[in-house]
Amino acid sequence: MPLIFRDDAYARSCPATVTAVDERGIRLDSTVFYPTGGGQPGDTGVLRRPGGDIAIADTIKGAAADEVIHVPAPGAPLPAVGETVTAEIDWERRYRLMRMHTCLHLLCAVVPGAVTGGQISDGKARLDFDVPGATLDKDEITAKLNALVAADHAVTPRWITDAELAERPELVRTMTVKPPAGQGRVRLLDIGGIDLQPCGGTHVRHTGEIGAVAVAKIENKGKQNRRVNIVFTG
Ligand SMILES: [Zn+2]
Repeated sequence: MPLIFRDDAYARSCPATVTAVDERGIRLDSTVFYPTGGGQPGDTGVLRRPGGDIAIADTIKGAAADEVIHVPAPGAPLPAVGETVTAEIDWERRYRLMRMHTCLHLLCAVVPGAVTGGQISDGKARLDFDVPGATLDKDEITAKLNALVAADHAVTPRWITDAELAERPELVRTMTVKPPAGQGRVRLLDIGGIDLQPCGGTHVRHTGEIGAVAVAKIENKGKQNRRVNIVFTG
């Protein structure tokens, strides 16, 4: 099925036909809804239709590759298979998630060490780094992040083959989240010579869109693990 957010993260809505409805949720033949994955929460929004709008409370991945399940809000009406709808995400929320997600790529460029975990929420995010022996300075990281934001670097997704990725293991910064291999190609996220790594999430086109950010706190999570928490300040 066409996953429109992959090629156009700015698409807010699309026409779609309902292909399946079960206890897990609603499947469509095309969607702009991003399913929970890679530390980024699934989209919320609405399926518009003449018979009554259907509020979508979450979006998750199905068992099959590229399968996206739209989870209706409790009590929402359910569509019939074959119905046509307009799938529309909560854009304000998604855009904040895109800005914060892109900011985490900048954080990867600023902080040395392997990424051991991470989570993006609405308005804040965190990444855990394996930083042997190093101390991280909150204000220094904040200054470096805002400099990269202000420089307004281009953010460009591109694809490489599984074989090319296998030859360049240094591209994979995350120790816990392996990039989805086995489909022949992997999506890379390239921020103008600053950060390059496999990522299937949604991002802004230029780092300037992120806006002002700050490191809220740095926590010790185990002997070598440092958790860096980011918030918007703009
Ligand atoms: Zn990403």
